[in-house]
Amino acid sequence: MSLRFYNTLTQELEVFTPLAGNTVRMYTCGPTVYNFVHIGNFRTFTFQDILRRWLRYRGYKLDHVMNVTDVDDKIIINAAKENKSIEDYTAIYTKAFFEDAAALRLQQPEHVAPATKHIPEMVKAIEELAAKGFTYTNEGSTYYRIASFPAYGKLSHNDFSGMRSGVRVDVDEYDKADARDFVLWKAHRNNEISWDTPFGKGRPGWHIECSAMAMSYLGETLDIHAGGVDLIFPHHENEIAQSEAITGKPFARHWLHSEHLQIESQKMSKSLGNFYTLRDLLEMGYQPEAIRYLLASVPYRKKLNFTFEGLKAAAKTIERLRDFELRVSSTKLPAGRNQAVAERTAEAIRQFEAGMDDDLNTAEALAAIFEYVRAMNTTIDEGYFQEENRWDAARVLEIFDCVFDVLEATDPAKLPGVQAQPTAPAIGDAEIEAYIEERTQAKKSRSFARADEIRALLLEKGIVLEDTKEGVRWKRK
Ligand code: AMP
Ligand code: ZN
Repeated sequence: MSLRFYNTLTQELEVFTPLAGNTVRMYTCGPTVYNFVHIGNFRTFTFQDILRRWLRYRGYKLDHVMNVTDVDDKIIINAAKENKSIEDYTAIYTKAFFEDAAALRLQQPEHVAPATKHIPEMVKAIEELAAKGFTYTNEGSTYYRIASFPAYGKLSHNDFSGMRSGVRVDVDEYDKADARDFVLWKAHRNNEISWDTPFGKGRPGWHIECSAMAMSYLGETLDIHAGGVDLIFPHHENEIAQSEAITGKPFARHWLHSEHLQIESQKMSKSLGNFYTLRDLLEMGYQPEAIRYLLASVPYRKKLNFTFEGLKAAAKTIERLRDFELRVSSTKLPAGRNQAVAERTAEAIRQFEAGMDDDLNTAEALAAIFEYVRAMNTTIDEGYFQEENRWDAARVLEIFDCVFDVLEATDPAKLPGVQAQPTAPAIGDAEIEAYIEERTQAKKSRSFARADEIRALLLEKGIVLEDTKEGVRWKRK
């Protein structure tokens, strides 16, 4: 069976192959670094990670670009509130994003592209659009005229033929009902951050950022463009309008969009205030592996409702898999290789692969693993599972984990944002002996309070004193 993805553009399940050679050129819309991102955002980033890992499993090389939106309306407002420069402000949340991503074991894209480091590419793209007659200016801002791009609406499958021409919008995010000419370059206002360009001083709109960076890294036609469903309109529709107006070629061959993480049947979002950040959940004591597993376990095109029961169930599932891993590696087994077990293993791998090939159907792939684990536990109980079958089971777990990556436990000291438990600073033998000597002298001079204080102080450092006839003995707890 071949690898298939659902394409938002064609609304069909399509066989996937890269356009050129063995390398997949992929662009994903990254975070806007105006605050900590929430686990809803991380559902989308986890989907992209699973996509990356499965493409690699299928033997492709990746050339993956993710942007970081480090200049936009919200950033400007928040940075001003805290009296920080845009750079200082976004550095905090960019760092936090990558720490959180690492805790969730998200592989780093080959290129991470901050918007502010690619202004010349955006300026060039706007100039090309202007030269081809797709733009107009108003009060110092430059807009894209969507009436000049007849295919507008082809990704979101909206019919915009009746739209009013010349109605503009300056904000980057807006509603479906609102097909409007969108801003490419925002005129400089007050003392906002700005760049000088031939078409005026200002800053880029959000949409041009992705078109310009995607094409400058990956060329005119990408293999895959991905993001959450909320980006289909207007963001990705606008990216197509910009890029295809410039090149006259298809911008991306496969458009993949992941459904939302919901909470109480509503989209988890900053604006609704119904969100958890990764750090919130880690502070509550949940493991990043359980969060990763939960986000990955529901196929990406299905809505996923976040509950704490679901999160606890994810942790239990991981525990069961770890127990199985321990059991097959440590149980004493009869020598040899049971053929039926070997065949059952090959079948489990085939089922897992078929699930993942089918538009990353993680639920089906996981079902293959659970059935296998159940069957193997029974064969171990019944004595059929043999010494060399260990490698069969290990192979299944390895394939599972190269996609899901949850079997290894995270060191709690490495969790982002969680206050590490204060550990007593180490104390050397000589220092201990010195304290004991001081305590002995204190007792001799009847300073019992000091003697007790020293005992307590040592105990805090994990040293237990024992008074014996031969003198004071000590040990580390
Ligand atoms: P933003 O930083 O708001 O641009 O969002 C970053 C990514 O997270 C985008 O791909 C969004 O589509 C995605 N996203 C936002 N909210 C959710 C949610 N509740 N569930 C899944 N993905 C989301
Ligand atoms: Zn984008």
